[in-house]
Amino acid sequence: MIVAIVGRPNVGKSTLFNRMVGGRAAIVDATEGTTRDRHYGKTDWNGREFTVIDTGGFTVNSEDIFEKEICRQVEIAIQEADVVVFMVDVEVGITDLDQAMANILRRVKKPVIMVVNKVDNSARNLHSFEFYGLGLGEPFTVSSMSGSGTGEVMDAIVEALPNEKEQEIAVDEEGLEIKKVNVTLPRITVVGRPNVGKSSLTNALLGVQRNIVTPIAGTTRDAIDSYYNKFGYEFTLIDTAGLRKKQKVNEDLEFYSVLRSIRAIENSDVVIMMLDASNGDGVDAQDMNIFHLIVKNKKGCVIVINKWDLVENKQTNTARDFADNIKRKLAPFNDVPIIFTSVTDKQRIFDVVKSAMQVYENRKRRVPTSQLNEFILPIIEQTPPPAVKGKYIRIKYATMLPSPTPSFAFFVNLPQYIKDPYRRFLENKIRAQWDYTGCPLQIFFRQK
Ligand code: GDP
Ligand code: GDP
Repeated sequence: MIVAIVGRPNVGKSTLFNRMVGGRAAIVDATEGTTRDRHYGKTDWNGREFTVIDTGGFTVNSEDIFEKEICRQVEIAIQEADVVVFMVDVEVGITDLDQAMANILRRVKKPVIMVVNKVDNSARNLHSFEFYGLGLGEPFTVSSMSGSGTGEVMDAIVEALPNEKEQEIAVDEEGLEIKKVNVTLPRITVVGRPNVGKSSLTNALLGVQRNIVTPIAGTTRDAIDSYYNKFGYEFTLIDTAGLRKKQKVNEDLEFYSVLRSIRAIENSDVVIMMLDASNGDGVDAQDMNIFHLIVKNKKGCVIVINKWDLVENKQTNTARDFADNIKRKLAPFNDVPIIFTSVTDKQRIFDVVKSAMQVYENRKRRVPTSQLNEFILPIIEQTPPPAVKGKYIRIKYATMLPSPTPSFAFFVNLPQYIKDPYRRFLENKIRAQWDYTGCPLQIFFRQK
């Protein structure tokens, strides 16, 4: 689920964004050569998780020059988002640019939540009434700086988010339901920067005859879900590549890619992240952003280094060194399969399928509590968490939580004193015993 914050520069979008995603590190997407940086981060409210995108601050503050561009960004955000938060500024009042955006937003069929910002006191509250004139209903008044009113906005967002289940119904262009999508099939998504070979891989796997399963209701997305059923493997393959061919402007393209990737990742079980071997050491900031999204969403991951054929003078260790280098960059979570492919030469393409399905199985693996304790308690006894301020920390037992992704709870007398290195120590022991390759693990310490 994607919530986009739109509005002209300086209304306070970033301030609200920071408040919404809280302490969680936001991902900054400062695409080189563009006029803005964009932030996106994951958050939750009343148990609903969603991704927030701040469409960005401009490095140059001239509304005249950028008006057209800003409106185009708003259009993209609207297309891709599930809910749009439209922010205006009570200090300045309604500007031409606010009007222009409101005109776009009034035509939209998605929920739009208008937020009047900088309402820092009750006198300003009165001024917020002028925004009714934008024709977007009753505005929410907030002070993003102090946080007052932002809880109500979060309530409204969660209320407006479409029901997750509704998305699983496939419809045709007229909006008629054609079939219920089989939600139990594994969902495997291919992501990566433009030109790494996503389309080529998808085409190689599916052949020319694609079985298109789900044009999803009410969205304009052209990421296509295809049905794969060969050699004993069955899953839905989500292709995020198609969009590139349609977009001309580079900056729009990046924005589209980011939004598509976020949505596709959220809807996947396993994400195949493609990198280009011919492109230096393979991982750039954009790739790291994608990888962090995968990890934050707790999805399975397989890394595919494509165009291996273009790497010259390969030695025995070339692949291993390449993989080691990538793992160093991905740390701390780097227990990820890395496969070197040449899609054009049909090298190791099926290994990608096997690996993705293995990760899918790993992600479902549940260790019975007795087995887990038999294994882990002796290890803990031998290497207990270090005492803090003379207090002994005792872990009594562990169990897996009934969550859709692998999560372990350790019951402890003083959970607050367990530090990250010990968490990693336990995680590594678990990974050494059970195959969780490709799966982010969560480890919680709870009071007994
Ligand atoms: P953006 O360009 O829309 O992302 O706007 P920013 O979040 O960067 O905020 C622009 C300016 O408005 C900054 O100087 C903020 O400190 C200020 N600002 C943001 N929210 C509030 C608020 O609730 N009240 C007041 N008085 N100022 C605010
Ligand atoms: P996408 O934008 O990620 O979907 O990338 P495409 O699948 O469209 O591929 C971009 C270009 O890279 C095309 O010209 C492909 O033929 C080429 N390409 C894809 N895979 C390989 C590969 O394994 N080796 C080489 N040499 N070229 C490849």
